Amino acid sequence: MDAADIQDDLARVLITEEEIQARLAELAEQVWAHYDDGQDVLLVGVLKGAVMVMADLMRHLPGSVPMDWMAVSSYGSGTKSSGVVRILKDLDADITGKHVLIVEDIIDSGLTLSWIRANLLSRSPASVEILTLLRKPDAAKVEIDTRWVGFDIPNEFVVGYGLDFDEGYRNLREVATLAPHVYS
Ligand code: 5GP
Ligand code: MG
Ligand code: MG
Repeated sequence: MDAADIQDDLARVLITEEEIQARLAELAEQVWAHYDDGQDVLLVGVLKGAVMVMADLMRHLPGSVPMDWMAVSSYGSGTKSSGVVRILKDLDADITGKHVLIVEDIIDSGLTLSWIRANLLSRSPASVEILTLLRKPDAAKVEIDTRWVGFDIPNEFVVGYGLDFDEGYRNLREVATLAPHVYS
């Protein structure tokens, strides 16, 4: 699949590469200030969607910070998540006393993330905050305190910048909706 092919599958670009990078630079500045120049913060990414956000956010930080990863599977009917979560890969690090910043690609219902947040809070960290690149309107229905949001987007299925459709399109540099022919 070459670059021309992937562009042919898109219906509409919602957020360009430049917009993503500019926003992540702003968020990185806020994160750095919040954690008193990065003291004791651990970035925790949720695989696989958050790979791009993690890579670019942390490169916008002016100092050295560690990262760790979790992989979870969310049981649900079809495309909607149920909030019933199983850990596929746990953190390598002990987060006792650490300031954890969860880095996410998107919050839709928020069910997956509220489960992860509660799970991490049970391990006695100093704090747990959430940064997400994207947030959908349904996220407002769940009580989930998200300190940093890149962009609020409409209730449409999006791909790119880590987000997949059937494991494809993660490598797209922008966030976009797919053309109808992709689904059929
Ligand atoms: P939630 O538990 O917040 O409803 O769902 C979270 C997960 O669903 C995200 O981490 C992501 O993997 C997936 N998801 C939600 N909305 C979208 C979307 O528009 N596009 C893609 N590719 N995945 C989504
Ligand atoms: Mg995710
Ligand atoms: Mg997915």
